[in-house]
Amino acid sequence: MLKRLRPCAQMKRLDDISLTYLQEHGIRGLLIDVDNTLTEDNRLEVDSWAQQYLHKIQAAGIKVCLLSNNNSERVRPLTEQLGCKALAKAGKPSKNAYGKALSLLGLNRKEAAAVGDQLFTDVLGANRAGVWSILVEPISPKEIMIVRIKRPLEWLVCKWNHIEMSRTK
Ligand SMILES: [Mg+2]
Repeated sequence: MLKRLRPCAQMKRLDDISLTYLQEHGIRGLLIDVDNTLTEDNRLEVDSWAQQYLHKIQAAGIKVCLLSNNNSERVRPLTEQLGCKALAKAGKPSKNAYGKALSLLGLNRKEAAAVGDQLFTDVLGANRAGVWSILVEPISPKEIMIVRIKRPLEWLVCKWNHIEMSRTK
């Protein structure tokens, strides 16, 4: 179980995942968590840093699908801004969520990476689905109650797995 909660890679923020990194790992598509990975919780606009990053990687041929447990009303404005695919109410950490997102992109699990800020949804789900998992730090310390409850548990898992996560402390 603890192994399943260990990310394949760790970055500080989404835009630290460079094109070179993606190319070196044979990654042709990114499955990106929304809340606190792409934007602050429930924010309906994408910050310019994230917009620039996503436009850059999409222009370079990387396919993007937002993968969120939040609803489609929350996710749709972001896909319109970014011109990418999305799967809302995904049900992470279910493996099915990743299968559906991969088929939206027309990729197999070895050709994609999943990015997110939570161990128990994003990392666990990606690892279960056999997708390369990248853990990023949450954008903002302001989080919904259910996530706040999970953070101390994540901290314990991080400690056990020797993962450095400044904002989960
Ligand atoms: Mg999140």
